[in-house]
Amino acid sequence: MSVADRVVNFGAGPSALPLTVLEEAQKGLINFNGTGIGIAEISHRSKEFQAFLTEFEQNLRTQLEVPSTHRILFTQGGGTTQFSAVVLNMIARHRLLHPNATAENTVLDYVVTGSWSKKAAEEARRLTAGVATVRTAVDARVYAKDGKAFDNIPPHAEFAFSPAPAVIYYCENETVDGVEFAHDAGAPASFPFARLPAAPLLPLVADYSSSFMCRPIPRLADHAVIYAGAQKNIGPAGLTILIVREDCVVDVDAAARLGAPPPVQHPAVLPIYVAGLVVRRMGEQGGIPYYEALNRRKSQKLYAAIHEGEQNGVFRRKKRFLEGAEAEGMKGLKGHRSVGGIRVSLYNAVTEEDVDKIIAYMNSFMQK
Ligand code: PMP
Repeated sequence: MSVADRVVNFGAGPSALPLTVLEEAQKGLINFNGTGIGIAEISHRSKEFQAFLTEFEQNLRTQLEVPSTHRILFTQGGGTTQFSAVVLNMIARHRLLHPNATAENTVLDYVVTGSWSKKAAEEARRLTAGVATVRTAVDARVYAKDGKAFDNIPPHAEFAFSPAPAVIYYCENETVDGVEFAHDAGAPASFPFARLPAAPLLPLVADYSSSFMCRPIPRLADHAVIYAGAQKNIGPAGLTILIVREDCVVDVDAAARLGAPPPVQHPAVLPIYVAGLVVRRMGEQGGIPYYEALNRRKSQKLYAAIHEGEQNGVFRRKKRFLEGAEAEGMKGLKGHRSVGGIRVSLYNAVTEEDVDKIIAYMNSFMQK
């Protein structure tokens, strides 16, 4: 098996990684930065790994313009882990701020626009029974064409936030349903920042798992927590990156004195290494503006081809489409198990040439 045998990976996560990064990581796996020790074997406390981590953090800070009010954390696990962890941390923060809070006045507001935010709200409900009240600030299914699908971002006027919640939660890009908040502030489908309670240090939490590092994060500084599983745009699974405002970094020692279990923190060194290489390379190529423009070109091309195919009704022949694609060296195109269909994921490492390749295949499929 050689590099030439690699196929185009349109998978939704784990997703494609740049070949140059994989080649460099291959060397680091044997001998990390001249230490004579492989990256999967070296101590996370070694000065070489600490230096790598510092550079990685700095690259993220620069490229995403993370202000000094926010820390960047590298945790284990994935997005789903954060469905729980964020709730526990934010409830702990709320309790430290309001020691006499009751379940009735500890309110968690969830914006439900797709399968992932729905799941996150369910997890919050499970975790906080008797401790807090989970509310739905808006449920997009109410505004669906058929009254039940996640197919829209509701109008701003429909978002109803509590006056002083402990969490305000949304998912920026709903990977399974293909619904995302618009990025320009004036758009009707943008996140309704103007409707949030007018208080400082809002507990605004955003799941950015499927759009992290592919375009700027609107109003980043107004968020309490932004998190993203690494396995889409920037690295292997097992790493989640968090951008956390200082006041939301819970004092774990104080929490432990109140009976909370001590934190487990052993960073996922290998995923951090690969993700760090990806982000370093992103910086060399022009950072977020470069990827934002590239991703826009990729998606416009692909949507044009899809609309053409839709008019002809040809992409309904899913099995034949997938088999033909695989025969031509394109994989990872099967839709999420919960919705079926075909899904072409265009994460950062998918090149414009890769997109041209699938469009050419789609066109030849249509002709046949
Ligand atoms: N949130 C979003 C937006 C996702 O796309 C996903 C899954 N890919 C998750 C959360 C769950 O993440 P994980 O698989 O890392 O637990």
